[in-house]
Amino acid sequence: MDQIRSNFFWQGAKEEFRYHMAKMDTICRPKNQGGLGMINTSTMNECLLVKWIWRIAKGSNETWFKILQAKYMQNGSFFSSSPRGASQFWQSLHKVKHLFKWGAIFQVKDGANTMFWEDTWKGDTPIKIQFPDLYKMCANPRARVADCWDGENWIIPFRRSLTTTEKDDLDKLLLWLQPSSLSVGLDNITWALENSKVFSTKSLYSFMTNRGVMLKDSNSCWKVRTPLKIKVFLWQLSNDRLQTATALKRRGWKGSHLCCLCGKPENVDHIFFRCSLARFLWAGVGEALGLAQQPGSWEDLVATWSKNCNFPKHLGMLLFASLAWALWTTRNKMAIEHIFPNNAIQTFHVFVGFMQRWSPLSKASNREKVRDLVELLKAWAMGFRPSMTSISDIEFL
Ligand SMILES: [Zn+2]
Repeated sequence: MDQIRSNFFWQGAKEEFRYHMAKMDTICRPKNQGGLGMINTSTMNECLLVKWIWRIAKGSNETWFKILQAKYMQNGSFFSSSPRGASQFWQSLHKVKHLFKWGAIFQVKDGANTMFWEDTWKGDTPIKIQFPDLYKMCANPRARVADCWDGENWIIPFRRSLTTTEKDDLDKLLLWLQPSSLSVGLDNITWALENSKVFSTKSLYSFMTNRGVMLKDSNSCWKVRTPLKIKVFLWQLSNDRLQTATALKRRGWKGSHLCCLCGKPENVDHIFFRCSLARFLWAGVGEALGLAQQPGSWEDLVATWSKNCNFPKHLGMLLFASLAWALWTTRNKMAIEHIFPNNAIQTFHVFVGFMQRWSPLSKASNREKVRDLVELLKAWAMGFRPSMTSISDIEFL
């Protein structure tokens, strides 16, 4: 099903082959994580199965739990049960149990249901991550915490005698474990990915699709007041998903990866910030609006440039959208149809034209500011003598 949707997103209903410029998992990320917010159904299914693991691990007095317990968990918990010969449901739970470990934090009491090496119960990560060399040598990677406690001391069995460095590591580990000891009662589980510490499908889904990290400024391409087509274009641009020559080359395209204008490797930062044509447009923007510095990359644009402008950030984004769309359409005409603009100022006029055309989409309270910017840019372009720069010798700018 995800394959069908992926094809539709990139090819539309047409049969013709087109390069898929983003992985399905990128498209499926929430918008605040730089995605398009589509639900990835197989990931969602996994999250719903993990929810069952959570419910089973927490235990219950209800009948469904008692049935599962009698059938599969006579010797302990879900994690010590075996998937072999079990129902499809139980087997599928075992297939996703590694995902449960991403968010589960075990509060150890008797240590019977917590894995010494593989669960997170001391610190923020499993001991196997904190002491990888010791983990490689351990006698039983699936040992429970209770197996490593003799009532008074921590006893950790290894497969062979340890080297000096490994012994040092072990000393560190024992020292770190020292204050902890086992007590009476069942181990408890909390969920680290949710403030409430209670499992939620949403928190795991968000974690799995982008490790739960919110991308700064990833919303800016959706908030900009332009037609939807341009928002999608900005999303592609900011995620390096445009069909630039370098990106196509990576996907096995036979053509050249060089810019058709200046012969340098063509990627997103080149087209929109570093190519001579882009630098000309940015230089014009700088002169027209009195900006000291121009961005050299997309990161630079969102991190520095749009913050240092003498106008609000959303106007900077609208300006960039217009400028980038002018460069992209010009670039496509050059690369695909071999139509070159007569001079660079022509592309500048196209850029200001887009900005003017989209200005009615801005909030009423901002329209005047947009018009002011457009007027400044237009005035600069009118005062510019085209003879000064033919398209071929604007490199000096
Ligand atoms: Zn170039």
